[in-house]
Amino acid sequence: MGRKETIRRQSPPPPTHQGINNAHPTPPPLPVKDPNNGRKGLLLKNGSATTGNNCASTTPMDLWDSIFDGGYRADVTIEADNGGIIYAHANVLGMASPVLRGMLKEAKGYGQKKSISIHGVHQDAVRVFIRFLYSSCYENEEMKEFVVPLLVLSHAYNVPQLKRVCEQQFEHGLLNLENVVDIFQLSLLCNAPRLTLISHRMILRNFRAVVATEGWRTMRNSHPGLEKELLESVIEEENNQKEKIRKSKERKIYLELFEAMEALVHICRDGCRTIGPHDKDFTRDQAPCKYRACKGLEMLVRHFAGCKLRVPGGCIHCKRMWQLLELHSRLCADSKACRVPLCRNLKEKIKKQSKKDEIKWKLLVKKILGTKRIGASVSFIASSNSISS
Ligand SMILES: [Zn+2]
Ligand SMILES: [Zn+2]
Ligand SMILES: [Zn+2]
Repeated sequence: MGRKETIRRQSPPPPTHQGINNAHPTPPPLPVKDPNNGRKGLLLKNGSATTGNNCASTTPMDLWDSIFDGGYRADVTIEADNGGIIYAHANVLGMASPVLRGMLKEAKGYGQKKSISIHGVHQDAVRVFIRFLYSSCYENEEMKEFVVPLLVLSHAYNVPQLKRVCEQQFEHGLLNLENVVDIFQLSLLCNAPRLTLISHRMILRNFRAVVATEGWRTMRNSHPGLEKELLESVIEEENNQKEKIRKSKERKIYLELFEAMEALVHICRDGCRTIGPHDKDFTRDQAPCKYRACKGLEMLVRHFAGCKLRVPGGCIHCKRMWQLLELHSRLCADSKACRVPLCRNLKEKIKKQSKKDEIKWKLLVKKILGTKRIGASVSFIASSNSISS
């Protein structure tokens, strides 16, 4: 770390306070900011972060930074850990943080000068925090190093903009498998719901790796209740995943049935390759078949026509064919014009079905139609043009 960095971190005391700071040598006045050595991570007022340097050295942000760095007419001293002293301005602190405003109201001091203390975090973190209150700026390296205490400070002193910055920093790189359990707990303590969500998601997705970390072991000892909750959420997530897979498989089955229904009407109405209605002329050139289910269905129809066990509950292939025929009949909008075998007969049979069967089939029909998100009456079901084919 260069000399310049050190100088910047130690804000010089205002002239009237030189006596207080006897223990620390008074640093020389700050040099004029070298534009090639400026802030790396500027958070602009509109919230967008930039990297690199801004050549305009007199932006309002720079001015606020200089006011902080120079301590010009500072009227507050902030005592930090290890004897760190930071000079600041009561009106800036009070505007940026309602908590600091309250502290300043209560604070003791000589005349207009006030003194408050911020302990429990590294003094450099306090300095980065106070600087942020002035200019909403930070250096990337400092943010990386102090993001945890900054999150804590942003919560304790009610500075939501800084909390958002910290959350973004975690979201875009600082959160990892090693710290995720700690950060998850911290996000709960600091009421940072987005960070809670992101870290929780990371834990769920990397559970095996996370459970082996030091962070998890520490949490197990200090917050067994939280560990239990996390384990429950992991189980819930696993179940959700299983349910997702089950639903996807189920949808695939319904989609296949839907396609089989399309292909059945197509075969019985138009004919396909070598199979079709008895009045179909197969010598003419046929357009290539567009139905995926056609081939399998063709074989099933052939089997059905020749099988000796052609009774309901017979061989599995015939049983399948009966199911498809019955399903078609339930979906068919115009049985009178339909050329699918047994369509009308099955429609008659359906009228006499039990309430239980009716519910079961209606549910199946609904699910099949749901796969394509279509209404009850679809073009493939209606066979009004079948007579002409
Ligand atoms: Zn076909
Ligand atoms: Zn059979
Ligand atoms: Zn029909």
